Parts: sequence; C-alpha cells; structure tokens
Amino acid sequence: MREIITRFAPSPTGNLHIGGLRTALFNYLYARANNGKFLLRIEDTDLARNSLEASQAIIEAFKWVGMDYDGEVIYQSQRFEIYKRYIDQLIEENKAYYCYMSKEELDNLRNEQKNRGETPRYDNRYRDFRGTPPAGIAPVVRIKAPLDGVIAFHDGIKGDIKVGAKELDDFIIARSDGTPTYNFVVSIDDALMGVTDIIRGDDHLSNTPKQIIVYEALGFKIPNFYHVPMILSPQGHKLSKRDGAMGVMDYQKMGYLPEAILNFLVRLGWSYEDQEIFSLQEMLEYFNPKALNSSPSSYNQEKFLWLNAHYIKQTPNDTLQKLLQDFPCPALPALLDLPISQRDVLYNAIKERTQTLKDFANYASEILTAPQNYDEKSLKKIDADTFKILKNFNEALADFSFESVENLDKHLHAFMDNQTLKAGKLMQPLRIALLGKPGGIGLCEAMFVIGKKEVQKRIQKFCEAS
Ligand code: GLU
Repeated sequence: MREIITRFAPSPTGNLHIGGLRTALFNYLYARANNGKFLLRIEDTDLARNSLEASQAIIEAFKWVGMDYDGEVIYQSQRFEIYKRYIDQLIEENKAYYCYMSKEELDNLRNEQKNRGETPRYDNRYRDFRGTPPAGIAPVVRIKAPLDGVIAFHDGIKGDIKVGAKELDDFIIARSDGTPTYNFVVSIDDALMGVTDIIRGDDHLSNTPKQIIVYEALGFKIPNFYHVPMILSPQGHKLSKRDGAMGVMDYQKMGYLPEAILNFLVRLGWSYEDQEIFSLQEMLEYFNPKALNSSPSSYNQEKFLWLNAHYIKQTPNDTLQKLLQDFPCPALPALLDLPISQRDVLYNAIKERTQTLKDFANYASEILTAPQNYDEKSLKKIDADTFKILKNFNEALADFSFESVENLDKHLHAFMDNQTLKAGKLMQPLRIALLGKPGGIGLCEAMFVIGKKEVQKRIQKFCEAS
C-alpha cells in the first residue's frame, strides 16, 4: 500500500482561522487514518506580510486542538537556497529563461491586449532569446509552459480538470530580486517533502495547473489533489468575522472545547451516514477524502453550540475544573475552592444548562455569589406572611443536615409537611432569597453547594432588605 503523506501549508498572515483548521484537519485525518505522515509547512516567504507571532499562533492552535504533525515544522523562509538551486537547474536545462521586459513594456503589452479585447498574457518574447540582454534591467525568470495541448489532472472532489495551454503563459518563477514565486515554491516543497495528497481550499484550484507545469519541468511525481469548497455563512456569503470566521484561539476564549471544534469542522463538507457526533477515533475510522462534498458547506452557529454543550457534558469534572481557570469570573476563587462533593453537584447541574465554558463559569459564579438584587416580578408576589415562613425556615435550618442533596430534600419536605405549607409558598421565595431570580438549578442542589452558613446569611439578608 502506498504511504500517504499530507501537509498543511498556511501563510502566517494572521491568526489561524477555522477554515484553515478544517483544511488541516482533513489532511491530518487522512494521513493518520492510513498510518501516513502529516507535515506542517509555514509559507512565510512574503517577509513583509508574515510574522513570527503568526507562525507561533498557528503552532499554538495546533497544540490546543491536539493535532500533532510529524517531524519539524518547515519554514519556507529558510529554504531560499533550495529554491535557487531549482531555478538554476531549470535555466540550465533550458526549461526556464531570463526575461528582460521592463515593467513599462509589460504594462504596454497588457494595455494593447486589453484594447484588442484579448486576455492579457506574456507574449513569450524572451522565450528563445539569444541576443544581448538590454542593459540596466534586472531580469525575472520565467518557466517554459507548454505552448499547446491541455494541462489535465483529476481532482478528488471536482473531477477531471482540463486547462488549455493557451490560457496559461510562461509565468514568473523568480522575481527580478531573485526571490522565488508562490506556485514555484509550493511545488518544490510538496515534491521534496514527498507529499502524496493535497487537500486544500478550492481558491487554490487555479494555481494547480501552474504547479503541475513546475512538477513536469522538474520530473516530479504529481500528487493527488482535493480542492474543498469554502465554508459559507448561513446566508450563503463568504464567511465574515461576524458569522464566525474567527481565529481558532478566539474560540478558546469564548469557551469552546477543541473536541467540539474538530467535530464541528469535520462535518463542514464531509459526512458519514447521518452521524453528527464524532470522536477523534471515529473520525479516523471513517474519514475518506473521496467523501468530501463538492458543494460549499454552511456555518451553523447553533449546531456548533449544541456540539460544544455535548462535549462539556462529556468532560470529567476534574478536567472542567482545570479548564475553568482560564475563565475569570467574580467567584473564581470560591469556585476552585469548592469541596469535591459540592463541586460535582454544581458542575453536573450546570453541565445541563450551558453551552460554553465561559457561560459555565459565569453560571457557577452567580450561584456562589450572594444576589445583589432580586427579581422585581417575583418580589411583588412575596407578602409579609411569606417572610415569616422564610424566617421560620431559617431558624429550622440549624437542624438540617447538609450532608447531601437528598438529605436536604428530605429536611425541606419534612419542614413543609410540618408547617402544612404548599411547595410554592416556600420554594419560590426561597429561591429568590438565595439566587435572586426564578429558574435555574435545583433548589436543594443550590443549597448544598452554597453551604448552610451562607444559605442562612442570604435568607437573613433577604428578609432584612424587605
Ligand atoms: N499557503 C496557502 C494558504 O495559506 C496554502 C497553499 C496550499 O495549500 O497549497 O492559502
């Protein structure tokens, strides 16, 4: 069986976006599922636009989602020597040549072609030039593209692609300052890294014929290509920041779990039966690039949150405890200090009610902090009689066992039976006194978590305030 070698090749111009992470994930899964290799190459040849921080942010994002790559990260900025060698080789073999056309000449040619209604293209004037080069012009290097016929390849998603040679010209592989161009270095690197399968965004589809020309000129084996359609907004537009085209690490700050991100992304453009939830293990088992969709996928925020809620529920409380430290909320110290039994009751209750870690931390914080004000509508329903009941209840609390939620529940019901109280008469006001508003986690759960002393304090404060 052939070894599958894939790669992810981001240009570090900013944060790694989730669209990029999706591309990386597809490549990662394909390699890992086949015991192949997954390589990371940073395309940082544009020294003006690329930054070291951006490269580091990409690596950090990889670490965070737990996607490991093989070997060292390859930086294109460190490979200029290699590219130069191949440029020289092509010139030597007469497969590339110096072109001395000045910028003005090129502009004039383009304008003339446009005026004649033609598509601007280089006219090959230096392709077989044997004369004396014009003085004072630093030449570019152009590759000899085929003059006729077609450049054809099979794309694993788009099918057979054919581009007429007439649509391509002898494109530049080295600029006048000697730096190599994008399509040239991508091809060299993919070939030298032994990449067998390239899964990437379909915005690169038009680059592929040029890269094939480079492969052929150098006698490299052409890899398999899979060009994946973009992720669109729910309205069918290009994804904007508002729709979710954010940096991967922004999702961490918003309280998303890496498992949810990977699961969300894998389903954007890929499916397996009608399954929605995939563990990494399942992704590895089922992923096949042949099943990638040829139509664009659409970003669905609700589904993303639903998945995140699912993975929060699956996360052990010990792990959650560690993760919550990254989400500053007013009661964070109290939250981290809770005894394990209280913590587990609180976490299990909140797991059912929140979709992000950030909301989780805030929800917990609200319960652990005495309410500063009380829901007005609920207050209106509380009369003098009710305050009396609450005061009685507060006294009775002295004899309550706070050992478990069940114990508390028993005591609470015994108290109500004893006083022949209907549940609503005590439970609703008690909830307002303790938490400030209706709804939320079970009352006995809340009391158990808050602890006897604090429960008494909150009831007292509530009764005094009114
Ligand atoms: N560096 C390119 C980008 O970030 C990807 C190149 C490729 O995958 O071939 O869009």
